[in-house]
Amino acid sequence: MQKQQQESVFKNFTFLHFLLLLFLIMVILSFLSPMLQTAQISYSTFLREIQEDNVKELNIRGDRIEGVLETEIEDNGRVFTQFVTFVPAMGDEDLMPLLKEKGIEVHTQPERSPFFWYLILSTLPLLLIAGLIFSQYRRMQGGGGGGMFGIGKSQAKKYDRGKQRTIFEDVAGAEDAKEELMEVVDYLKDPGKIRDVGGKVPRGMMLVGPPGTGKTLLARAVAGEAGVSFFSITGSDFMEMFVGVGAKRVRSLFQEAKQGAPSIIFIDEIDAIGRRRGAGVGGGHDEREQTLNQLLSELDGFESHEDVVVMTATNRPDILDPALTRPGRFDRRIMVDLPTVKDRVKILKIHCRNKQLDSDVDLELLARETPGFSGADLENLLNEAALLAAREQRRKVRRQDIELARDKILLGLKRHGLALTPEEKRMVAYHEAGHAVVGALLPNADPVYKVSIIPRSQSMGVTQQFPDKEKYIYNREYLMDKLAVMMGGRCAELLIFSTVTSGAGNDLQHATKMARSMVLEWGMSDEFEHMAPGGSGQEIVLGQELGKSREYSELTARKIDQAVETILKKAYERAMETLTENRKALEELVQALLDHDEVSGDQVYAIVRGEAGGIKDDPS
Ligand code: ADP
Ligand code: MG
Ligand code: ZN
Repeated sequence: MQKQQQESVFKNFTFLHFLLLLFLIMVILSFLSPMLQTAQISYSTFLREIQEDNVKELNIRGDRIEGVLETEIEDNGRVFTQFVTFVPAMGDEDLMPLLKEKGIEVHTQPERSPFFWYLILSTLPLLLIAGLIFSQYRRMQGGGGGGMFGIGKSQAKKYDRGKQRTIFEDVAGAEDAKEELMEVVDYLKDPGKIRDVGGKVPRGMMLVGPPGTGKTLLARAVAGEAGVSFFSITGSDFMEMFVGVGAKRVRSLFQEAKQGAPSIIFIDEIDAIGRRRGAGVGGGHDEREQTLNQLLSELDGFESHEDVVVMTATNRPDILDPALTRPGRFDRRIMVDLPTVKDRVKILKIHCRNKQLDSDVDLELLARETPGFSGADLENLLNEAALLAAREQRRKVRRQDIELARDKILLGLKRHGLALTPEEKRMVAYHEAGHAVVGALLPNADPVYKVSIIPRSQSMGVTQQFPDKEKYIYNREYLMDKLAVMMGGRCAELLIFSTVTSGAGNDLQHATKMARSMVLEWGMSDEFEHMAPGGSGQEIVLGQELGKSREYSELTARKIDQAVETILKKAYERAMETLTENRKALEELVQALLDHDEVSGDQVYAIVRGEAGGIKDDPS
């Protein structure tokens, strides 16, 4: 965060700031430079020096007298030949005769600042105001070029053919999406071909998927592959404080694209303007609706010979206005999902291209250990690891760097200053060991990867589990074991200390949420077997907030609460049973945690299997 802020400070350093800085320096200099060589002396000293014939030259401006001495004198420990003094306010009638008598050369000037200063001081406010207005206009235009008064210009960044260097090869995985997009590429390369055979021109594509999965990247790759002009704009760029500007921008964007055809218009994050109309609370958002209406009419307004493909991306397709996704508009939905294990390996390889990896880094293993990571997450992970390596002046990234980086991303920074009392530390150790022992013993739970009681920004300790392979469907057994693992922390506290702590709050929230889903959506409770009382769970758009509609009665609500409770209770009992039966393993793991702060999954399994003693001293 710190670093980003600094960067943006420099980015905003404009011509205007430069002017201000220059002005400041000039003011300081002009005050300093005479002060360095010139000493201020008393009027009496001045008169004495004249009497002693030591004054060579005088420069009188108003009541200020500057002068040069024949030989240097000392005053207050400073030696100087230039001095300044002031005529007393009541005047000194004897001064001029004295000067005449001594034959001193006297220059006089009117009491006014020099012309230079006059000019600066009178024009500077004007200059500043002009600069301010200018920079305001530039900001409106997204820092790009354009004229001073082009508020309604499209703002789209244009990437010309040839300059665009992203290609499909830069996007790992996402094979299905690429295949569909290949059709667009083929069309743009030779627009006549599809039209000759009477095929439908692929016009509106919508890339849909979670954040960081490479939607923006894919869109650029299409332009790169086809070698056509690419007009890229983000939904929020249309929004401006003036009503009507967004609509005007849409119009000029489409105009530009048509002039540059064949071309691609890419509207990123379209949800910013494409939200369902008329759903806003407290009156609609006029500006946004106008912009959206303009966009819709532009989409309809293509002539059949205009070779412009419009692509868009969003991670919230559910809140889009249905008019946007209607046939003829963004009717082709291309899913870009989170990468699978295999894709993660490929993505890691792409982002390792410019980094040196030590031989102990196994990308395949790393891919398996990063379930749920998006492409952007993986890129971030490798960058963090490289930073860690750089901090230690190493050129190669080690496995340990990557592990640390992942912990930092997943768990937050270590909190060094935090001092737990030994008793608190023991509590945390039992809590985490409770999770770990249950996780290691239950047959359907995800394998335990690591247990740690190092305090971090988000928790006092953590038990990491990673699935051995990716799961898309969860069965009841898996979910029940998962719930039991979540309960393991609290159970251990109860078992050992006969009390409960606030440390389990997070576990309980998650467990409750999951149990509710089991009852409401997945029909996994005994009361509502094969039934999803949560209904379709249709989302109501409330401005930006999302609420869920409830489609059941009070009585059913009570039954649902009971069903959730039953599930949680079962999970709790299962965890308690496991821990009571394996208390020895629990104690051993706690001891290992207190000794080492961190215990690997292998060691946890060794302990629960009774093969302990396998814990050697931490090499680090
Ligand atoms: P989105 O638009 O889906 O939120 P981006 O396209 O902006 O995601 O992806 C952010 C960054 O993550 C990209 O610039 C790229 O470096 C990396 N990335 C994401 N997905 C992939 C992928 N499939 N292959 C390679 N890099 C990826
Ligand atoms: Mg994006
Ligand atoms: Zn816990």
